[in-house]
Amino acid sequence: MEKIYFYNTLTRKKEEFIPIAEGKAGMYTCGPTVYNYAHIGNLRSYFFEDILKRVLLYNGYKVNHIMNITDVGHLISDEDEGEDKMEKGSAREGKSVWEIAEFFTEAFKKDISLLNIIPPTVYCRATDFIQEQIEMVKCLEAKGFTYKITDGIYYDTSKFPDYGKMALLDIEGLKEGQRVEINEEKRNKTDFALWKFSPKDEQRQMEWDTPWGRGFPGWHLECSAMSIKYLGNHFDIHCGGIDHVPIHHTNEIAQAEACTGEKFVNYWLHGEFLIEENGKMSKSKEEFLRLQKLIDKGYSPLEYRYFLLMTHYRKKIKFSYGNLDAARNGYRNLIGRIKEIKADSYAGRIPTGDTEEFETRFRKSVNDDLNVTEGLAICWEVLKDNELSSADKILLINNFDKVLGLGFASIKPEGPAEKIPEEITKLAEQRIQAKAEKKFSEADRLRDEITGRGYKITDDKNGKYTITKNP
Ligand SMILES: [Zn+2]
Repeated sequence: MEKIYFYNTLTRKKEEFIPIAEGKAGMYTCGPTVYNYAHIGNLRSYFFEDILKRVLLYNGYKVNHIMNITDVGHLISDEDEGEDKMEKGSAREGKSVWEIAEFFTEAFKKDISLLNIIPPTVYCRATDFIQEQIEMVKCLEAKGFTYKITDGIYYDTSKFPDYGKMALLDIEGLKEGQRVEINEEKRNKTDFALWKFSPKDEQRQMEWDTPWGRGFPGWHLECSAMSIKYLGNHFDIHCGGIDHVPIHHTNEIAQAEACTGEKFVNYWLHGEFLIEENGKMSKSKEEFLRLQKLIDKGYSPLEYRYFLLMTHYRKKIKFSYGNLDAARNGYRNLIGRIKEIKADSYAGRIPTGDTEEFETRFRKSVNDDLNVTEGLAICWEVLKDNELSSADKILLINNFDKVLGLGFASIKPEGPAEKIPEEITKLAEQRIQAKAEKKFSEADRLRDEITGRGYKITDDKNGKYTITKNP
């Protein structure tokens, strides 16, 4: 297997990826809080994680990808204060929190699918794993990491020596009051809620009984509990947006490692923000940009994907319609070029192996901390190359598309070959591939199938071929 390098937030270094089990990668990605639609900045995180997964698959890894759906416990502030996001969504829409969760989960899955993001192996909802979360609090309690105050059970971060290590948090600085403190009962500013009690005079829509009292889990708890449930105490990769580093992921590590006594995750990867011209994209604004809005304005989801491909995941992207238009032009040019080449490729020659240099360069780029921007540039080089045959170009870019995810395989040719039905040209392409792989009996079988469907393939001695309809 070729080497893959990731920038690991834990060490602030690019490191070679060494999986725990050979040929396999366990990966947990923090999913959406389903109280509203995702904005296009949120979607950038899922896109980056899709590239990460595709690169692993491209290199032959078997990927077990778990994504949570937060349908309980996430308050407006990541620091256990403010309104409950789900209850807020429920009040806004006049529906129950359960209905809200269902509706926005489906909306999220639709956005993911439109952007050609491969769905996770498992989506897990926080409310389906309440028992596992309660067990984790019990585990932390037994080991002396918890304390009880008026509004809940809290994690005492001073008991966990490495707290804030990944985020390089200045704990001393925080003690002097850099973080605004709301809850005065907390022992340390960085302490966080494991279990929040329901208000005494109010019945919440989502609440559960526990030995400590009726209430609901703190937001960070679900990710530690569910990732361990599916991937084990110690697994390969965990990722999310860069905003997860100082609080959410820091707290996940504290919970998991204090409870299991083992290292939680080997590689932490974080995607940068998409920012609007006037600052960070946020849902707290009344109007926020979602994918459907771009579609309503005439942009296709894959044009947005192409736009995202143009910037490395660890760099900020400034969103503007001008920038999106530039990406759209690039995308349309690319598709146009592919259509022409596909139309031409039926008269192409058998691949001769001079594709290897491009393949190697592409793999090196994407394996270097997911440099798909360079990968896209190589894709363009292939299309413009004067030496390669059209058939070679199609083979190469279809292969690159396993990582880029722009749907090249479904692009229809435009030109004279258009009259030949797609299934026939597909068979002819498969036959070329089979010949290239020296599977000659398979190539013969494909030829027979094409003949059986009323078309004829003629090879010439230069390795070119043409398809004609039998009269
Ligand atoms: Zn999470």
